[in-house]
Amino acid sequence: MPNKVAIAIGAHPDDIEFYMGGTLLLLKKAGFAIHYLNVASGNCGSVEYNGATTRSIRNTEARAAAKILGAHFHQSLTDDLEILYHLGLLRGLAAIIREVKPRIVLTHSPQDYMEDHTNTCRLAVTAAFARGMPNFKTSPARPAADYELTLYHAMPHGLCDQLRRRVIPGAFVNTTSVHQTKRDALAAHKSQQGWLDVSQGLNSYLLAMEDKSLALGRMSGRFKHAEGWRRHLHFGFCKAESDPLSKALGRNYLINKSYEQALEDGP
Ligand SMILES: [Zn+2]
Repeated sequence: MPNKVAIAIGAHPDDIEFYMGGTLLLLKKAGFAIHYLNVASGNCGSVEYNGATTRSIRNTEARAAAKILGAHFHQSLTDDLEILYHLGLLRGLAAIIREVKPRIVLTHSPQDYMEDHTNTCRLAVTAAFARGMPNFKTSPARPAADYELTLYHAMPHGLCDQLRRRVIPGAFVNTTSVHQTKRDALAAHKSQQGWLDVSQGLNSYLLAMEDKSLALGRMSGRFKHAEGWRRHLHFGFCKAESDPLSKALGRNYLINKSYEQALEDGP
């Protein structure tokens, strides 16, 4: 039965470091084995090199980043802009879930600025859902295992959805103590420094990450640096009250009371 195992599933090399890296590091400190998967290779992240060269550069960078995080690295399953909600990818991702048997799955927000992120989220949810269903075949074939698993969604880019509406986290994780390591892991994606300046005006991607974690820290009212999370509805995954991040991180985990209140009030 899985116990202290967590996996972060991001769309592109550097997404885990941007949105989930601090929480992953804290889980490791809490005794979890941590796993790292970028669904896409990052092959479109350059105007300088062709796809094959970029894929190779970014694979090397992602491996280095995973090493800094102390995470078990999993090879990407497809290329950028090809993260579609389709059966082949679902079978591949479900095989990884069955191998890893995570108790905690960290992935993107269901609402986010680009489809690779939202499709990664959808694929991760279904791959996790199918963990105990023997009639769903994975590729490569892996035996089904039914057990409790809890999914958490990271904050979207810009802390808002694709329609520009603000997204409020359900919980904050205090990443201050691991911020430097998170930054080092992000900096391992050296090729992205110039590329994100060109494509998204991110100035420096390190500063962009820092701004975001400081903004979430301010929003928490308690922490300097923070990551935000929303817990997936429990049906098909775990008990209604299961919140293993809270259990693992203790004082570094803060439930956002206004989010909980809004859940009770309804739309
Ligand atoms: Zn991305």
